Amino acid sequence: MKYALLLALSIISSFSFAQEKPKAENVIVVTFDGYRWQELFGGAQKKILNVKKYAGDKKKMKALYWDKDASVRREKVMPFFWSTIASKGQIYGNKKLGNRVTLTNGYKFSYPGYNEIFSGWGDKRINSNGYGDDPNQNIFDFLLTQKGFDGKMAAFATWDAFPRIINEKRNHVPVFVDMKPNNKGAINIKGVSIDQWQTTIPAHNPYAKTDSFTYHFAKEYLQRNHPHFAFIGFDETDDYAHDGNYAAYLNTATTLDRYMKDLWNFVQGDPQYKDKTTIIITCDHGRGDIPNLEWRHHGHVLHAENIWIAAIGAGITPKGEVKDKMFLHQNQIAATVAALFGYTYKVDHFSGQPITEISGTVGVREK
Ligand SMILES: [Zn+2]
Repeated sequence: MKYALLLALSIISSFSFAQEKPKAENVIVVTFDGYRWQELFGGAQKKILNVKKYAGDKKKMKALYWDKDASVRREKVMPFFWSTIASKGQIYGNKKLGNRVTLTNGYKFSYPGYNEIFSGWGDKRINSNGYGDDPNQNIFDFLLTQKGFDGKMAAFATWDAFPRIINEKRNHVPVFVDMKPNNKGAINIKGVSIDQWQTTIPAHNPYAKTDSFTYHFAKEYLQRNHPHFAFIGFDETDDYAHDGNYAAYLNTATTLDRYMKDLWNFVQGDPQYKDKTTIIITCDHGRGDIPNLEWRHHGHVLHAENIWIAAIGAGITPKGEVKDKMFLHQNQIAATVAALFGYTYKVDHFSGQPITEISGTVGVREK
């Protein structure tokens, strides 16, 4: 009897060993701060283009971004999303079709959103962009307890709050917000380091630098150091929307789409990353809806809890724009990243469950 039980147990455990290989060896999470699902899925919005103070040169804007057909319009803003990601990846959050992704934090602004992305918990205590070091264990802390991640994670961001949000003091993950060269080497353009170049660009937002430098620094770092988990946080979509500058907001989205194309081409052309790397792209919060012209802002703005998630790369089943009625949450992203690596996300606080449509079923990868 005892023997039979042991035999049964060993069969079960050998099954579970064979069950799941990690879907990805590397994951890169990218955020477009406050980029709305309305433009992602619908391109330029007529009701905003028709307001002169937002659209500026309407004729030029229409030439660049207008078409009667929303599926053509969205391609004009984000051609990479609507060709490559739409054919090889997955895109969630078209609220019009009932495919919803929302925040669970009630605040609808940046720090609480990024806390929710990284920790998996829409913690009520995180109530300000000026909040100090985030007390919640996050995906970086979790991965640090797994084999092979120490020294193989990094974050790059335009907004200067990320060292607090990721809590680099606690986990010592390098969080680059000023693009200063470190012991991994200076990153130069034409012999001038990127942090020096940055001082030649007027700062649009006193708390942020420039997305272009964030991208180029991140890409160079990925090339040199091949971290297994990386985060790249872009900022300028949010700044231009707050300004009410719809032209700059859409142009920024187009630029970010181009970075994603370049990142994807880099990943797929790099022997260490090719076919082993998943890219997840999302945002920290939405913005208001068009009818009340609250598209510029978020925070205490109706409907700004609606966001979106896209994924492409290793382990991602091609589904394109997911049109099924679903209700996903921002607090699932951390667990989804862990699951892509084959781990069950375990921290000392609540977390959402992985989005299994993205990650597959949670693996049983050993430490
Ligand atoms: Zn934000």
